[in-house]
Amino acid sequence: MERRARIIILGGGPAGLTAAIYAARAGLRPLLLAGLQPGGQLTTTTEVENFPGFASPVQGPWLMAQMQAQAELVGAEIACDSVHAADLSVRPFRLEGDAAAYRCEALVIATGAKARWLGVPGESALSGYGVSACATCDGFFYRGKSVAVVGGGNTAVEEALYLSSLAAEVTLIHRRDTLRCERILGDRLAARPNVRVLWNHVVEAVVGDAQGERPALRAALVRDLAAGTPRELPVDGLFVAIGHAPETGLFRNQLPMDDAGYLLTVPGRTATAVPGVFAAGDVQDPVFRQAVTAAGSGCMAALEAERWLAAALPAAA
Ligand SMILES: Cc1cc2nc3c(=O)[nH]c(=O)nc-3n(C[C@H](O)[C@H](O)[C@H](O)COP(=O)(O)OP(=O)(O)OC[C@H]3O[C@@H](n4cnc5c(N)ncnc54)[C@H](O)[C@@H]3O)c2cc1C
Repeated sequence: MERRARIIILGGGPAGLTAAIYAARAGLRPLLLAGLQPGGQLTTTTEVENFPGFASPVQGPWLMAQMQAQAELVGAEIACDSVHAADLSVRPFRLEGDAAAYRCEALVIATGAKARWLGVPGESALSGYGVSACATCDGFFYRGKSVAVVGGGNTAVEEALYLSSLAAEVTLIHRRDTLRCERILGDRLAARPNVRVLWNHVVEAVVGDAQGERPALRAALVRDLAAGTPRELPVDGLFVAIGHAPETGLFRNQLPMDDAGYLLTVPGRTATAVPGVFAAGDVQDPVFRQAVTAAGSGCMAALEAERWLAAALPAAA
């Protein structure tokens, strides 16, 4: 079976759903393919406190269900198919999903990015209950508390600096004896009185207690690579900052990407190097990676796609 749509939006997170709302309201009858994680990364978290419009915290899965309902209400079609191949050299573009093949004149790529996790025992059970991969998202919950950051690159140091203004103390856990960040960041970190670095240490497990019906982080089990024996480091929050992987494998050798695999767009816009292909959200954003910035660029992508379709294919409008 081959399905055709004027515009396909690949990804059902904040970027894709916002693009769908704008494209539907522009009369483009978009088809959104939501993949294996409809709603995107926010469906894996608990409280979201920084998405504008809500006076009190909302649950991530609830917020995404609202966005999806809004997109459907204004006329977007949402399918849960996952795309495993794409050909941007033909027109209309061709996508191959697990359930069907697709053709579209314009494509918005909003496939997001995944945080890299440590993969140690306890980490996934305590994710959202003390373990996080985003200081900007969750740091506020640890005001005046004790937190640790795992990693030693730019991201880890930036996360530690951000947290040092909120938390009482920050421990950076790094498996080497030097940081791999820009020097200015390392200097700033060294100047913060409430930050210390555990050099040559790794996290072997994350330990929690039951607090009513919810788990709560108690400590990171850390091991000094030189000394050997693990010990518990008591912490209220643990931030894993060992990098992100954008979901761009489908477009390798078809669209320009940076060294880390993020899609490159025209500066300040969402247009990629292929006319008619737009990128929005975390898949093209190694810097901010927030739901609201993803939604903002989803809006931009839909508006740009609409203008491109009107100019390039006016007969079909
Ligand atoms: C635990 C956690 C907590 C967070 N908390 C906050 C917070 O409090 N506030 C905040 O602003 N941000 C938070 N973030 C960050 C925020 O979730 C992301 O910035 C945002 O979700 C990015 O949106 P996106 O639409 O670009 O991508 P994503 O949300 O990653 O969505 C990607 C979508 O693409 C789909 N997809 C991927 N590959 C394919 C494919 N081949 N075919 C079809 N579909 C595909 C996926 O199924 C998914 O629907 C958090 C992130 C995490 C992981």
